[in-house]
Amino acid sequence: MFELLAPAGDLVRMKYALAYGADAVYAGQPAFSLRARENGFKNLDDLAEGIEYTHRLGKKFYLTSNVIPRNVKVEAFQNALLQAIDLKPDALIVADPGFVGWLRKVRPEVEVHLSVQANTTNYLAAQFWQGLGVRRIILSRELRLSEIVEIKDRCPDLELEVFVHGAVCMSMSGRCMLSNWVTRRDANQGACDNSCRMPYRLYANPEPQCENYQEHVGEFSLQRTDRPELPPIALDEDTWGTYFMSSRDICALDVIPELMKAGLDSFKIEGRTKSVYYLSQVVRSYRMAIDACKQQLESGLPLEIPEESRKAISFVDGRGFMPGFMRGPLPQNYESTHEDAPGGCVAAQVLGYDDATNSCRVNVKNPFGMDDSLELMTPSGQFPCEISSMKNFKGEDVDRLHPGTEGIVFLDGKICKMPENDIFCFFIKRNT
Ligand code: SF4
Repeated sequence: MFELLAPAGDLVRMKYALAYGADAVYAGQPAFSLRARENGFKNLDDLAEGIEYTHRLGKKFYLTSNVIPRNVKVEAFQNALLQAIDLKPDALIVADPGFVGWLRKVRPEVEVHLSVQANTTNYLAAQFWQGLGVRRIILSRELRLSEIVEIKDRCPDLELEVFVHGAVCMSMSGRCMLSNWVTRRDANQGACDNSCRMPYRLYANPEPQCENYQEHVGEFSLQRTDRPELPPIALDEDTWGTYFMSSRDICALDVIPELMKAGLDSFKIEGRTKSVYYLSQVVRSYRMAIDACKQQLESGLPLEIPEESRKAISFVDGRGFMPGFMRGPLPQNYESTHEDAPGGCVAAQVLGYDDATNSCRVNVKNPFGMDDSLELMTPSGQFPCEISSMKNFKGEDVDRLHPGTEGIVFLDGKICKMPENDIFCFFIKRNT
């Protein structure tokens, strides 16, 4: 119960997620998950390594096998599933009803979790799947908190998983043809190009010339011409264009106490393609929140999210955060463009630590210098830190490092303490 489940886009991301406190990870089955193009688990060897690493830590590895296959793919998908099962993942995440039934018949010992793509929105549907032997349901992201709680009340023996953080579709959890229409890439075969989240520009001519584009200055909105009484949809254009179909991201930190009181089993973070920094910071935030609430529950105290959890989230950017549909109402979803993180950003990822010189070899992600307000983020916490000097990739003394390069950062040993597992660390630049 209260599992923290994180995305594993590849082996590296998987290791960071586990280091920062995930209880379990989910990774795509090569060619048959809904992140087929970006999946870093390219073959059975990658999967075997991921499963073995995760199990060594006493944690769980779920295999996402959630394409919606056409006839032509059925046999290949069946064969791929049987090979993957031999590697002993802890569960398969499946969306297609035919494949759920087939798996229950040919491999009844395998734990099946029903993918969010199956859009389970009520307790009758949940009971139906439970009757087929499904162990866990990943609930539709469009549900309100009261609906989630009622499904748990009516299906107490069924494991329920909810998305608590990350991007959402503007369609009903992925059953969408927008990407097919705009780019000929089929979302339901794992090839979505995130068409809803991209910026668009309105051109007056039939052959757009990007270099000649004139920004539309002023306030704009879309209005249904047949329903003038409907509120207009605001169009907010930035330098990249207008994101009129792009949903805000979920951040359900504040709903965690209610979800835990209701007995939800698993809290899922979205984002198999996100950076290792984003993933680490988000996992860290929810780890602290779940641990604090668990302790408060056991002590009979009111459940509160620790300030540190919120602080961690303030260091990641997104499309503007909302608590999903859990608190409603719907329109708040589709209003925002990209927002910078209010707390600050990642300055550099630590690649190695030299104990003798108290220095870190870093990969610079954002420009930073000696005069910036820095913190060191580690799996055991985020601490203020000071640097005494820096060298660039040529070994020259510098007072500023630039993105896309490597450098050496010398720490002031009195303030900064490196943990043992230093490869999972980052320098964070606070906004001042
Ligand atoms: S285009 Fe957008 S709504 Fe459609 S599947 Fe892709 S991410 Fe989801």
